[in-house]
Amino acid sequence: MNNDLLPPAMIAIYPGSFDPITLGHLDIIERGSKLFDRVVVAVLRNPGKSPLFTVEQRLRQIQTATQHLPHVEVDSFDGLTVDYANLIGAKVLLRGLRVMSDFEKELQMAHTNKTLSKEIETVFLATSTEHGFLSSSIVKEIAKFNGSINHLVPDHVAAEMYQSYQNQAPKQ
Ligand code: ADP
Repeated sequence: MNNDLLPPAMIAIYPGSFDPITLGHLDIIERGSKLFDRVVVAVLRNPGKSPLFTVEQRLRQIQTATQHLPHVEVDSFDGLTVDYANLIGAKVLLRGLRVMSDFEKELQMAHTNKTLSKEIETVFLATSTEHGFLSSSIVKEIAKFNGSINHLVPDHVAAEMYQSYQNQAPKQ
């Protein structure tokens, strides 16, 4: 077959803070990787926030969590998400939707991004029901008080969280 007839690879970026990556994020990444040729998980370098983990730690955590997924890459960026998407030739911004409050914020962001770059589409994946309550902030709250987080984040992330709060992992 003539290669010129093949459609261009469809690249999606999945932008976020991922402080840290949760099983909810991972679910979106795994499902997204079945829809697009490449998914780039893009960690926003946001100097305004005071995160638990540095960007480099988060990149490593995501890399380890996604190493079983061949079409998934990990990167960081600063500035506008649409500028980064255009830079790497991504046509899709992948986002996850949990609750109604996500919807309002996400719709506003999708509309804003559309005004900034007409070529880029935002695609939402609904959270899997078991992850509907799950956020990085909730996981941090639980870990801070030495609660069990092993069912919420990948094992290596749980270990780093207990270490960073200087807790011992609770007995299951
Ligand atoms: P941000 O700071 O941009 O909200 P996050 O790392 O918190 O970054 O989230 C990145 C994306 O992942 C967002 O689209 C968010 O709605 C989605 N997301 C977060 N947690 C979950 C979850 N439990 N299930 C599905 N999507 C989620």
